[in-house]
Amino acid sequence: MAKNADLLARRQAAVPRGVATASTAFADRAENAELWDVEGRRYVDFAGGIAVLNTGHRHPKVMAAVEAQMKRFTHTAFQVMAYESYVALAERLNRISPCRAPSKTIFFSTGAEAVENAVKIARAFTGRPAIVAFSGAFHGRTLLTMGLTGKVVPYKTGFGPFPGDIYHLPFPMAAHGVEPAAAFEPVQGEGGFYIAPVEFLKKLRALCDQHGILLIADEIQSGFARTGKMFAIEHAGVAPDLVAIAKSLAGGLPLSGVIGRAEVMDAPGPGGLGGTYAGSPVGCAAGLAVLDVIAEEKLLERSTALGERIVKRLQAMAQRNDVPPIGEIRHLGGMIAFELVKSRGGHEPDPDATKAVTTAAHANGLILLSCGVYANTIRILVPLTASDKVVDEGLDIIERSLKQVAEAAA
Ligand code: PMP
Repeated sequence: MAKNADLLARRQAAVPRGVATASTAFADRAENAELWDVEGRRYVDFAGGIAVLNTGHRHPKVMAAVEAQMKRFTHTAFQVMAYESYVALAERLNRISPCRAPSKTIFFSTGAEAVENAVKIARAFTGRPAIVAFSGAFHGRTLLTMGLTGKVVPYKTGFGPFPGDIYHLPFPMAAHGVEPAAAFEPVQGEGGFYIAPVEFLKKLRALCDQHGILLIADEIQSGFARTGKMFAIEHAGVAPDLVAIAKSLAGGLPLSGVIGRAEVMDAPGPGGLGGTYAGSPVGCAAGLAVLDVIAEEKLLERSTALGERIVKRLQAMAQRNDVPPIGEIRHLGGMIAFELVKSRGGHEPDPDATKAVTTAAHANGLILLSCGVYANTIRILVPLTASDKVVDEGLDIIERSLKQVAEAAA
């Protein structure tokens, strides 16, 4: 049997340190909201592979669709010979397009590629080069998306120069004294799960309309039922022109895309968009199954209920004196985060306690991620298909880990 420690040593020798891993264990198998490492240890998964697994690990319907597709063909390149699953998935997404106008959809492989292509499409349509993004934003690791990303360390360190004509405005983060200005991710992901206020999004839309600016919603982390709606922007009743999608779109398979108003989407000429693996047939088959699962298992409602259940527990934990001080608890449906701060009722971030809690959680059998521009936010992205029992088990581990960190500091 492979040992975690041996694999870690091999990994350190063979793989550059630039790709950091939250856990020191190595995955063996996974099912819904549970993961087992190569030594047979079980973990509750509150990370969902960074927001990819709203429908859980290896959902049976997704697996069946993938297996059926694999038996037929795995690749043609859509540019060489098209296939129905790509068209069918585009049709279904167009029907639920948050743009609230006749829409078209194109597929890629990664989130960063979706954002890059949304910008290409917007430039082709408007003929204007400049892009406004927001502080704390995360849009990817390619050069353009890194340029759009607002969080500097570690994402941008040593990688400049970045593409020009990118402007950053402050994202509304009431907890940190920054008042509304404008938005791109309806709920910031890596930045710390800050929810863009409805009024702010409405004003942003009006400002865009006034100046002929296209509004691009990055729903890569917030999409596909995570927030209790198919797309987080729907909470605000604001219609974007373009939407970048990825992650939970295909339940664990690499697939991304851009949904947008048809006239905008048709701006680039033939051959201007695409990619060898873009819109893989296996990914599209998975995506169709994911949409079925979200509808059949009522995951929008489930996300809202899970959010309430989890936040209630977190609020109770925040009242305790035997855990590190919990600051703001934020959530939109099942997209949930809480901050650790230096003093009860204070705002000074405590990144050390945050790291200690995620490390303790891991030792206690829970995969838990942090995020945030101040590295003091713990985020919960548990599969929406998780049972209450497994969710409660994960919450118990959070509580136990918080207590251990408080005891160690005392
Ligand atoms: N946008 C957002 C909001 C994201 O959360 C991420 C990934 N964390 C990306 C873009 C980039 O996606 P990918 O890593 O698939 O390129």
